[in-house]
Amino acid sequence: GGGGEDETQEEGAAGGAANTHVVATHYNELKEAGRKDRQKSKIFFMRNFNNWIKSQLINEYMAQIKQQKRVGDALRVLDMCCGKGGDLLKWEKASISHLICTDIAEVSIEQCQRRYQDILRRAENSKFSNKFTAEFFACDSTLVRLRERYKDPSLQLNLVSCQFAFHYCFESLAQADCMMRNAAECLKPGGFFIATIPDAYEIIRRLKAAGPETRRFGNDVYSIEFDCETDPLPLFGAKYQFHLEGVVDCPEFLVHFPTLVKLGRKYGLQLIRRSTFSEYYKETLPKGRQLLQRMSGLETVQAQRYGSDEQFSHIRNFPATQRGRPLGTLSKSEWEAATLYLVCAFKKCKNSWDA
Ligand code: SAM
Repeated sequence: GGGGEDETQEEGAAGGAANTHVVATHYNELKEAGRKDRQKSKIFFMRNFNNWIKSQLINEYMAQIKQQKRVGDALRVLDMCCGKGGDLLKWEKASISHLICTDIAEVSIEQCQRRYQDILRRAENSKFSNKFTAEFFACDSTLVRLRERYKDPSLQLNLVSCQFAFHYCFESLAQADCMMRNAAECLKPGGFFIATIPDAYEIIRRLKAAGPETRRFGNDVYSIEFDCETDPLPLFGAKYQFHLEGVVDCPEFLVHFPTLVKLGRKYGLQLIRRSTFSEYYKETLPKGRQLLQRMSGLETVQAQRYGSDEQFSHIRNFPATQRGRPLGTLSKSEWEAATLYLVCAFKKCKNSWDA
């Protein structure tokens, strides 16, 4: 949108970021589904599961930040590529004091801001809600130095979160470098950068398993199709078309993990966690079981009402009690889509030597 998109197109002409405006347009045109439609979706349980993973990740690093800080210290967060503000309630629950929200899609940012205002209104009427200040702006994080858009460019962040979006910057080295600098440069030493991204190793493993001449794989909820030469794969611009039932249909890029780690180090970020969703699920389930039940349990019952509908037969096939199936009754297809991702966390060091 707006400035971001124009800048993107200029850069695209110069051979840098030809795909960012495609991505922005895609997200700008996404309709916001109502609760009913979301419940009918084939990826209803996967969305709950992804939300739970994000909550676990945010809570894990927020807890560490809270241990370090003194009473009365502000807690500031950057939600980079925040979308429509799907994590706003998580920030409210984490009792932060200030939030910066940015995304390339202007329409999403507007929705995010409206949601924030709803939260504020609710907070005014409740003694249990936590009020926090926030700022919002639309821009391309792979192209623009975010700190120059902050109300206070000298502000120090405790946490930077980039959920399901960092991979868009792996179109080129210049974009990845810019995005990593944005993630790192305002973080306080001891602060964290957390992200969820597709797991390139897993994607390539599935591509190879699909057969030697195959460029496409997936199931009834997701598909991945490669545009580029996959042997050998380039470090940047390893482009594929990602389709996720009713939500995503746009170009993405493989994240070469060692390169991500190297870029992080350049900006003083030290890798402290890399776990696939499947590993993270197993690791955090003992602590997060109740939350997962809350996030999907009640809604399971509601969604099962749609079970008579042909389209939702997969839900009946995987009842909540079935053994070996993740809580929240993801269908096999949803589980395959969810396990395409990994979580990673970096700690900000005093300087790049320490990282
Ligand atoms: N983080 C949100 C969440 O977890 O709900 C949204 C995730 S959505 C899958 C990916 C988001 O990344 C979209 O809102 C999209 O507009 C944003 N995005 C993609 N490329 C971007 C870029 N270059 N700069 C800023 N935002 C970008």
